[in-house]
Amino acid sequence: MSGEEDKQNITLNPFEIAKRQIDIVAKMTNLNPDLIEIIKHPKRILEVSIPVRMDDGKLRVFTGYRVQHNDARGPFKGGIRYHFQVDLDEVKALATWMSIKTAVVDIPYGGGKGGIICNPKEMSQPELERMTRRFTWEISGIIGPFRDIPAPDVNTNPQTMAWIMDTYSMSTGRATPGVVTGKPIALGGSLGRNEATSRGVVICAREAAKITGVKLKDATVAITGYGNVGYNAAWLIEELGAKVVACSDSKGGIYDPNGLDARKVRKHKSKTGSVKGYAGAKDIAGKDIIGLDVDFLFPCALENEITSENVDQVKARIISEGANGPTTPEADEVIFKKGIFLVPDILANAGGVTVSYFEWLQNIRREYWTEEAVNEKLEYRMVKAFHEVHDIAKKETVHMRTAAYVLAVGRIATVMELRGLYP
Ligand code: GLU
Repeated sequence: MSGEEDKQNITLNPFEIAKRQIDIVAKMTNLNPDLIEIIKHPKRILEVSIPVRMDDGKLRVFTGYRVQHNDARGPFKGGIRYHFQVDLDEVKALATWMSIKTAVVDIPYGGGKGGIICNPKEMSQPELERMTRRFTWEISGIIGPFRDIPAPDVNTNPQTMAWIMDTYSMSTGRATPGVVTGKPIALGGSLGRNEATSRGVVICAREAAKITGVKLKDATVAITGYGNVGYNAAWLIEELGAKVVACSDSKGGIYDPNGLDARKVRKHKSKTGSVKGYAGAKDIAGKDIIGLDVDFLFPCALENEITSENVDQVKARIISEGANGPTTPEADEVIFKKGIFLVPDILANAGGVTVSYFEWLQNIRREYWTEEAVNEKLEYRMVKAFHEVHDIAKKETVHMRTAAYVLAVGRIATVMELRGLYP
């Protein structure tokens, strides 16, 4: 590997990025360096082999991870992702970001994350079920409603959560819905959970628009990633009067300056497997979405979408990050200097885990809340967190990501300091 390539790899390694973001806060504040050092290390990492009988009778062994980053403030909390690019450093970063995220929105959780290296798009439902159940069994000793609570993430959904709930409940001998969130409604899932991440992304975009003076009526929006987060963010921002002019998925993108129809694009994707080829829109390369001249950009795909390579092309006025880790630290600096208002992942997409918390509360209290009640509580918490972060950003003249880290790392460190070091 050449020196240049090596440098690139380090900059794009999500866990290195997560640690650098924590270091930025450490330099700015007078937090105890010992605590910072602990926060830069996940508390526990479990790697498991998952043997699965495939439909053709052959056996395949998948590798899965559960990383438990920090539980000073409450049980570990975070999703499980199925993707062929999953690797341990990615899961460690995602787990770290979950600890930060739950602290930004001030819910009583820590952070964790799981992942299985697989290509779910090439697997049948029975294969996915067998893989999910065996993975759950392998991690069942370290999860639980008061220990570590998984949830959906990239390529996992309410059905996946139902299999996790059932497998875990088999091992405890009683129905234990609180072990996982993002479940189907009939199984103790919460109304509003499915759209919660996107609702948060759009609430943050709306608050940022108020601050920057961008009008939502007829504003233009571009979205990368058209899974659960990207799609729901699209129709939610349309409801506020904005026009979604472009979106993309892993296969390509589409553009229509007059505005797409979020729901129709989703139907087209369900039928054909991609947003590409949507009638009336122009097919464009997925990577071109980042450089479109729009008011709002919602990166809702994977990590490292906005990097030092393409940040110069960004023309959006407001960015609200639906994905985890879409922007590298180098790109963050450029975006800040360009005067673009960026709402970072750890705040913008925290609506998902916030409603996961509401779901868990309903499960352990045996309650059912109305969708209005859920959305109202979500709105309150997101707006509060947004302004807490924005106040720090203004006071310290830093960008919103650094401000969110200052708030979150401070909250985690305070609790760790009070609890002290064991033994
Ligand atoms: N996977 C989502 C995230 O990255 C949700 C996590 C959760 O609800 O626990 O925030």
